[in-house]
Amino acid sequence: MSKLRLATVWLDGCSGCHMSFLDLDERLIALGEKIELVYSPLVDTKVFPENVDITLVEGAVSSEEDLHKVQLIRQRTKTLVSLGDCAVTANVPGMRNAFGTKAIYDRAYRENVTLDPGIPNETVPQLLASARPVHEIVAVDLFVPGCPPSADTIFYVLNSLLEGCAAEICAKTRFGA
Ligand code: SF4
Repeated sequence: MSKLRLATVWLDGCSGCHMSFLDLDERLIALGEKIELVYSPLVDTKVFPENVDITLVEGAVSSEEDLHKVQLIRQRTKTLVSLGDCAVTANVPGMRNAFGTKAIYDRAYRENVTLDPGIPNETVPQLLASARPVHEIVAVDLFVPGCPPSADTIFYVLNSLLEGCAAEICAKTRFGA
């Protein structure tokens, strides 16, 4: 039987959801029998591939780079999962939304900088006007709240998807859990 092609992506998040994925520990070995990790911050693949079965998306959509990335991911993914509160609600990245991008840039690159302050216009992706939950940009197939969702929850979700069952998320996790 061919393995399911899994990707994980890290948009505007703290990587805590990926740490929770790594907390699967030895269960990763069992999953490796059924899943091939084709793209992730955990592997050295530079381009998001075609024909991905499942993508776990951590983080909100906050920059032009995030926007283009998530649109490409949606085109190339059968089942897209919003993993964690930042992906589901914008959560922590969304805390900047009330202030506007100018105040954020000034705080990060002028007020707290002593050496050569100035807003970069190269190499740093441009912020969107607000950080947005993933489903406001592209269609999402499954929402997995939690900050972060536990390894048990992620294991349950992946197994449900592998078996083609609907994941009953409400019993497993909740916002902020
Ligand atoms: S949901 Fe929580 S753990 Fe996951 S990226 Fe956001 S802040 Fe980090």
